[in-house]
Amino acid sequence: MNKSDSERIAGVFERLNYLPAKDMQAADFLVVNACSVRQTAIDRIWGVVKKFSQLKGEKKYTTILTGCLLPGDRIKFRKRFDLVFNIKKLAELENFLRAREGESKEKYFEHLPRYAVNFQAHVPIMTGCNNYCSYCVVPYVRGREISRNVEDILKEIQQLVKNGCKQIDLLGQNVNSYEPDDKKYFSKQNPFQQNFARLLWEINQIQGLQRISFISSHPKDLHDDVIQALTLPKIVNYLHLALQSGDNQVLEKMNRKYTVEDFEKLISKVRKVKPEIAIGTDIIVGFAGETREQFENTLKFYKKIRFDISYNAMFSPRRGTAAAKFDDDVFHEEKKKRWHELQIIMEKATLEINQKYLGKMVSVLIDTKEKDFCDGNSLEMKRVRIKDCQAKPGDIVQVKIKQAREWMLFA
Ligand code: SF4
Repeated sequence: MNKSDSERIAGVFERLNYLPAKDMQAADFLVVNACSVRQTAIDRIWGVVKKFSQLKGEKKYTTILTGCLLPGDRIKFRKRFDLVFNIKKLAELENFLRAREGESKEKYFEHLPRYAVNFQAHVPIMTGCNNYCSYCVVPYVRGREISRNVEDILKEIQQLVKNGCKQIDLLGQNVNSYEPDDKKYFSKQNPFQQNFARLLWEINQIQGLQRISFISSHPKDLHDDVIQALTLPKIVNYLHLALQSGDNQVLEKMNRKYTVEDFEKLISKVRKVKPEIAIGTDIIVGFAGETREQFENTLKFYKKIRFDISYNAMFSPRRGTAAAKFDDDVFHEEKKKRWHELQIIMEKATLEINQKYLGKMVSVLIDTKEKDFCDGNSLEMKRVRIKDCQAKPGDIVQVKIKQAREWMLFA
């Protein structure tokens, strides 16, 4: 979502005829798009402010700060930036830039992005979140859930495909609770009842589009229809489902509204309809009050599920959230230790799982080309490096896997 926000910010600049600068020194405007999922990311903004002040020369830079910022952080940084605005109010950026040129749209979704590449695009379908997981700042910084109209989403994707887009990545804090106002826009032939599954079906019908991925899915809202929709031909062979903890007491304290048993049932259902699917997750270690035993439950559960990948984070309390009031009693060193333990188990499991691709053909969307190799993602979201590659970025190629490591398959 943060990348998609950046593309929308770039879209505002482009519409006003600004060009991307080669580097910081050459820029007139310096924009920081903050992600405040962790406190450390917010703390790093002070380092960026220092860097800005060290830029040499007579030139006056205009500095702008936005992203997922709590109101308190916005106030704190106001003196250090020329403009601090709420990412939901992109019109403020446009008005600021226009005002500087001596000369107003309101809704976030009306600001078209400047897509980073033409063959793959982020397409937000909703923004905000109603879930209030106790550690998470998102509902406070992005507000309640707002879903984008089906018609607008389909039109944007059709246009993207016309311009050569092969893969779209649907974005939302919880895509499973997608709830558009224009449900009447869904076709009569659409076989699904649940709105996100219905949207996936409509997008799957778009001619010329080859791959559809989505993130994030809250387990409590992963409806059977969405699980069925995973078998639609253009949906990638990867599902990201955030577990956060493998212990029921911790899950309850996190306000996740599911148990490890519920999660396991979901994974069984998913694997039943799509046995070869790769599954990724997010895990927080050292949550407030997490005992050694509770952490070990997470390790056991991780081994049981055999995720393909996990994005692991050490708990860092965010001001303004419910968890900030809990006793953050796991020492930093212990959090680090737990993070490493989980990381080792993950890497071992990932390496083992990746061996199953040896000798198999996989489909890769090339995104990088160097002199003698290309890199891209497979349908399972595995990074694949292809030697002696004749293809170019944007091509989809079928290749045979010759070697498999944790973070890269070689073809
Ligand atoms: S579902 Fe929970 S973790 Fe995800 S954005 Fe919403 S509050 Fe945050």
